Amino acid sequence: MIKAISVKKPILICLAIILVASFLLSYQGVISSASTPKPSFTVAIDAGHGGIDGGTVGVQTGKDENFLNLEYSLYLKELLSSYNIGVVMTRTTLNGLYNPFSENKKLDDMAKRKEIVKQSGAEILLSIHMNSFPLSSSRGAQVFFKDGDTKSQVLAESIQTVFQQTLPFARASTSIGDYYMLNEFDIPSVIVECGYLSNPEEEALLVQDEYKALVCGSIFVGLLKFLAN
Ligand SMILES: [Zn+2]
Repeated sequence: MIKAISVKKPILICLAIILVASFLLSYQGVISSASTPKPSFTVAIDAGHGGIDGGTVGVQTGKDENFLNLEYSLYLKELLSSYNIGVVMTRTTLNGLYNPFSENKKLDDMAKRKEIVKQSGAEILLSIHMNSFPLSSSRGAQVFFKDGDTKSQVLAESIQTVFQQTLPFARASTSIGDYYMLNEFDIPSVIVECGYLSNPEEEALLVQDEYKALVCGSIFVGLLKFLAN
């Protein structure tokens, strides 16, 4: 069951959507002037988890991370593509990328993701996840980068700054993360934890289409600001 959110939040979210939309409009000229029939650069979008690895599960809706990560990633793909940015997806279905007969499906899955991103020639990697924590009060979108990786840190901070302007529970800062999808690449790579499925109020937002549009729009604006600099 989804709890009704307070009257003020829809208004705030509408305002945030307008903010993101106006950012995107202001960048439309920059992007279209730089556009050629062939995308000038490519972004890899990695929807975390899949198949037997469903990730974390929403405390109220029971929707799993696998499903939501894919929904958000596909929305982001459409958004980037509409601005003539090339996109490669590590997965486009709910299935994992491992060989079903593999003895270590997790490792197999991660290796396949790495292969797809490396072979694509992508210049940026966005890995999309939903967070969770035993303490249900923990909440807030947060972007992770590899320790000492300056370019990834700048990208993470660019997205986090937009989150703070648009999302009601965004964390105050980015965080260092020691994860495969950050450690295995030389290109700017970030993990975007869009929010906590273990927090009932944030979960209620994360499953809404309007909120998905807001989060993805914010990631995109953060990306554009990073590219502009
Ligand atoms: Zn995850």
